Amino acid sequence: QSKANGRKSYTFYSQALNLVAKERLKIDQNLRGALQRGEFRIVYQVIVDEKSRSVKGFEALIRWHNAELGEVSPAEFIPVAEQIGLITEIGTWVMRESLLQLQQWQGRYGKALLMSVNVSPRQFQDESILPAVKTILKQAGIASSALQIEVTEGLFLSASDNVMSTVEALKSAGVKLALDDFGTGYSSLSYLNTLPFDVLKIDKCFVDGMHTSESDLNMIKSIISIAHGLKMVTVVEGVETAQQAHMLRELGADSIQGFYYSKPLSAKEAEMRFLAKDSITSLDESIWDNL
Ligand code: C2E
Ligand code: MG
Ligand code: MG
Ligand code: MG
Repeated sequence: QSKANGRKSYTFYSQALNLVAKERLKIDQNLRGALQRGEFRIVYQVIVDEKSRSVKGFEALIRWHNAELGEVSPAEFIPVAEQIGLITEIGTWVMRESLLQLQQWQGRYGKALLMSVNVSPRQFQDESILPAVKTILKQAGIASSALQIEVTEGLFLSASDNVMSTVEALKSAGVKLALDDFGTGYSSLSYLNTLPFDVLKIDKCFVDGMHTSESDLNMIKSIISIAHGLKMVTVVEGVETAQQAHMLRELGADSIQGFYYSKPLSAKEAEMRFLAKDSITSLDESIWDNL
């Protein structure tokens, strides 16, 4: 009896694994050539400066639409792109496209906007990253301080000399560095102290619980306080309600990003909503609530 059960659950387990493996294989196969076929696009999510109540800039987020697979989330395909060695090519494309977009926006609106771009560990470790960043900035005619690179704590697990020297080189080139998803991974306070991050992005998971869990609220307070103590600016991610936004503002969060202000939008939509109209640049709560 128990043996039969065991076998049954084993079969179930292996079928589930098989499915995952099949999905992964499909992603792998379709990802090759996706860039050349023009299947990627970028959406932009506004980052709002809470002190000045104005648009600070945007985070560039990649989207993939494939004929066979439909819309695939970056949470699913970015890890595969890392594994099969496509991430540098894809990540470089994201950086170029988003900075060319920024160039257009700066030209049209003359604003000092920030473009925040995610860079995966393997792309960051690739020795081509420095020359690539410099070339793209030059081609786009963008000041290096308008580019922010987001990395996650996973990058520092290996903490190779290579990573450290790239961090230093980007810093001295004037590029801003943000630590993304802070509090979810292998957080170590020593990273914060030893690495020259400009920005700490506090993960959505703390925001979700801030009105129901005192410890989540205290985590946010503490993280903001540590960040400020180390002269870092905080961006709180995944803010969905006015209640959360109000409290975060009171707690001294420097910037807020989340569905409360806007979902990630196409370049055109983002421009119409956040750049084209002067009235909207200076944020008025009543306007935002109606968006
Ligand atoms: P991330 O960098 O932490 O980006 C934030 C994610 O949270 C985005 O998901 C965004 O759409 C989502 N989000 C923002 N505000 C809210 C909110 O209020 N509520 C909820 N529920 N979600 C919110 P997305 O676009 O699916 O990206 C997922 C992850 O994929 C990103 O997390 C990032 O790690 C990775 N990714 C996206 N684009 C790129 C890219 O161009 N390069 C690399 N290397 N990774 C990328
Ligand atoms: Mg990010
Ligand atoms: Mg994040
Ligand atoms: Mg994330």
